[in-house]
Amino acid sequence: MSLFNKIRGQNRALKILKTAIHTKKAGGSYLFYGSDGIGKFTTALYFGMALNCESDDAPCGKCNSCRKFLSISHPDLIYLFPTPNLKFQIDGSFKEQKLGEEYTKFIEQRSNYPWQSFSFSQKVEIRIDAVRMLIHKISLSAHEAKYKICIVQDADLMNNNTANAFLKTLEEPPPNTIILLTSCRPDFLLPTILSRCQKIPFNQLSVNDIQSELLEKQGIEASQARLIARVANGNMERALQLLEEDDTQMRETAITLKELITNQDDLGFYEFLTRNKGNPPDWLASLIIHLQIALADLAFFEHNPEFIVNIDQTNIIETMYHKYPAVDEKILDHVRFLEDCQKKLKGNVNQQLILIEIYNRIGKLFK
Ligand SMILES: [Zn+2]
Repeated sequence: MSLFNKIRGQNRALKILKTAIHTKKAGGSYLFYGSDGIGKFTTALYFGMALNCESDDAPCGKCNSCRKFLSISHPDLIYLFPTPNLKFQIDGSFKEQKLGEEYTKFIEQRSNYPWQSFSFSQKVEIRIDAVRMLIHKISLSAHEAKYKICIVQDADLMNNNTANAFLKTLEEPPPNTIILLTSCRPDFLLPTILSRCQKIPFNQLSVNDIQSELLEKQGIEASQARLIARVANGNMERALQLLEEDDTQMRETAITLKELITNQDDLGFYEFLTRNKGNPPDWLASLIIHLQIALADLAFFEHNPEFIVNIDQTNIIETMYHKYPAVDEKILDHVRFLEDCQKKLKGNVNQQLILIEIYNRIGKLFK
């Protein structure tokens, strides 16, 4: 069975890509755009695999070439993503050995558990030395593949200099070279980059898409799958993270924060900030997810109480509901605002500032 069948909710994109493969018209540069966690990277990887697969049912995932793609170790796969400053050399080696260990770990995780979030210890972007390395590598002839595949993930994290260095290659990649950019923020890409790519939109995933995927995992009941699918809000990576997280402590921290916000307890919030200073970047990402859940619970109280996640908090939720009866209509906007906060975290912003913004913005609902 072709691995394309495993990708959910992206029939439109897959149709374009399959047609390109079957008519042997694949070529040049593509931009896959759409929200986080909906399969852009996986589709890019599978597309590259399919073009090089030795089976009729491409990408088979089993042939020699496919297996090398799946482990992200194929010599003709060039994979660029935002990293700290590793000081890339033109041959792909790098000078910063300690950061290099994080780099290796990222690739390992991307291959084995692609849905898990990963944070580097320093600010990430796609730097000019990485793009120079890519340009050099695609100028060499292929090692063993029919098509060289370059995947540039989160291409919007290229600065202007880097993007400009990339333009010529993007416009006319060497024959049998495919460049695949992915981005959840295409409006942050230079127009000159956008105009050189074939743009392929990726859909937001539905609750059903995510629920079906979760139900294929063992030991999960339909009601739990549906709940996680709702909380994940179209993001498959997040759904899979929620499924495997042991999150009791984080849930409690989020409830504490929610109470500080709804009570607008400035002093308590200040203590919360101090207590949690210096936590790793993943901490805030995870806290925000649980805060979203806690807020969504308020919105579910009246019409969909079966969707409340923190059922042990039902009494408090009920009190809140009566105290602020109109709040549930505005909650969804705030859940979206928290989505944006998640995106900002990728850019290595100051965590404390994000928390203060959350406290002030959501607190306005409860004044
Ligand atoms: Zn194969």
